[in-house]
Amino acid sequence: PPDVEVLGRSTWTLLHSIAATYPTAPTAKEQSDLKNFMRLFSKLYPCWVCAEDFQAYMEKQEVKAGSRDEFGNWLCEAHNEVNRKLGKPTFDCRKWEERWRTGWKD
Ligand code: FAD
Repeated sequence: PPDVEVLGRSTWTLLHSIAATYPTAPTAKEQSDLKNFMRLFSKLYPCWVCAEDFQAYMEKQEVKAGSRDEFGNWLCEAHNEVNRKLGKPTFDCRKWEERWRTGWKD
């Protein structure tokens, strides 16, 4: 199986980049596409213990797809949940757009 850390880093990059380019005012179709993508993603993610926990999280915290801001913050909170589980520092979600859309050096 792929290296869980390399996979994780690149996957968060993909997911936060999707949030960064998600419409500020998505159509109903765009919202259902995003929800379907996230549901399938959580089933197919090739770190199976990670996927199991993430699916459980998504059952408690339904994906918010009403706007870029909503999804970006939902995803940031979801990532923070994983950070807490792994004993990593949490991220200040007021800064997610600066990190992932307008950009800074990591
Ligand atoms: P990462 O957590 O990969 O983060 C990359 C960058 O994102 C950081 O450098 C920071 O700039 C930014 N960032 C950090 N937190 C946030 C946030 N909340 N919002 C926005 N940006 C942020 N690993 C396991 O060992 N066990 C698991 O159960 C597990 N579950 C995972 C579930 C999912 C859905 C994903 C995508 C990954 C999971 N991982 C899991 C991998 C883990 O989250 C990390 O990706 C991996 O440990 C590498 O960590 P990292 O320190 O490089 O930073």
